[in-house]
Amino acid sequence: MKNWEGKRVVIMGLARQGLALIRHLSECGAQILVTDLKSSDQLKDELSAVSGLIDTVSLGSHPFSLLDGADTLFLSGGVPADLPFIQEARSRGIRLLNDSQLFLEQVSVPVIGITGSAGKSTTTSLTGHILRRFAREQGFQVWVGGNIGNPLISDLDEIRQGDLVVMELSSFQLEILTVSPQTAALLNISPNHLDRHKTMENYLAAKARIFAYQEEEDWAVIGCDDDRVRGVQEDIKGHLLGFGRSLEGLDGVSFNGQSFTHHWHGRETNICRVQESPLRGAHNLWNIAAAFTLCATKGVPVDVMREALLDFHGLAHRLEEAGRLHGVLWINDSIATTPLRAAAALDSFSEPIVVLAGGRDKGLSWRPFAEAANNHAEAVILFGEAAEKIAALLKEEDCCCAVHTVGSLEDAVQMAVRTAQPGSVVLLSPGCTSFDAFRDFEERGNRFKELVAAL
Ligand code: ADP
Repeated sequence: MKNWEGKRVVIMGLARQGLALIRHLSECGAQILVTDLKSSDQLKDELSAVSGLIDTVSLGSHPFSLLDGADTLFLSGGVPADLPFIQEARSRGIRLLNDSQLFLEQVSVPVIGITGSAGKSTTTSLTGHILRRFAREQGFQVWVGGNIGNPLISDLDEIRQGDLVVMELSSFQLEILTVSPQTAALLNISPNHLDRHKTMENYLAAKARIFAYQEEEDWAVIGCDDDRVRGVQEDIKGHLLGFGRSLEGLDGVSFNGQSFTHHWHGRETNICRVQESPLRGAHNLWNIAAAFTLCATKGVPVDVMREALLDFHGLAHRLEEAGRLHGVLWINDSIATTPLRAAAALDSFSEPIVVLAGGRDKGLSWRPFAEAANNHAEAVILFGEAAEKIAALLKEEDCCCAVHTVGSLEDAVQMAVRTAQPGSVVLLSPGCTSFDAFRDFEERGNRFKELVAAL
């Protein structure tokens, strides 16, 4: 294990990951320098949380002088890897790290790592939920974290031999990883974050790094119904498992209209019926199959998988029920920041839908959304910065539903109250980021739930 005593480390980004790193590295005796583009006013809570632990703070810019004598530069997930400050660090031979790499290097128990364009958090928390039920019988602990919100580096000291870790990894975190989890899953790949990765090839390469440092005895789990994911198959060194509608001859977990089935060395075992799942949305069938496959690598019996699934109620802001009022079901899917994700949400209901979309546009195609809206929506209410732009794009994509544009999320909710009929669903699934009006998708979803509660 690396000795940090007296080492000068620069931490870029003072948010959740940065704070966890500061606490960990200061305990290890490192000298800590922090830089963030935000002002001291914007970061006052964060700064007071770590006061006394930091040697130097540089806010509003990233001066190169911070790199003088630095041993390591830690990047937070949101920091683009091509910033001049980072290039300067590279050219000076300073090691680039992030909290995920540090955790994977230091943890001494097996880690299950999960990445993909969509479904990471659901699969990560369901895998953790099933393993925790199994662990209760077996007497070990399961630690769930990473990109899902809890930087695992804070738990490092409490993790004991025999425990298990389930870790969500984003493509940003994977970009600089040089270590792989012993069990790793790549769920799916769809265009996202191309602003950061520039091309689909770079994005796929970042995701595929989750397998790059595996060894022969490790496990690789891939989404078999995704052609791009199947394309990485030949580079996999460990045992290969699949999940999806068709496993193409691999072992793993498949599903059809009726049931989930575990395939292992020619034997097929029924896990549970598809209708038993408490999770709405066809996309969750893949997430469930992925979680079952990952748990199977740890020897979890199928009856434990089934029981755990039946009492799993999903995550906040992902097709989350926000209320029922006058026969209308209100759903919060604020996490849907791409049109494709909003389309998946629209495809999850058989009821007529009034969909609320908008915010800050990411420049992705609205065609999948227009198609799903034509199939399921009776009205589209667009709000926020990109409302007019999206209205024009939907017209171009032959969206034939009634489309209304309003100013804010508050106005959109009021418009939905007037538009939705008993028996309908009002679905907030924005297809855009929240940054035009909110700190993040969670703040947007919480505001929506408050507005619904106040109706
Ligand atoms: P992530 O952590 O990758 O952002 P989540 O599990 O939080 O994914 O799910 C976020 C949203 O993404 C869901 O509400 C749904 O709209 C969509 N989604 C989830 N899983 C899938 C999937 N397997 N395929 C396509 N879309 C999905």
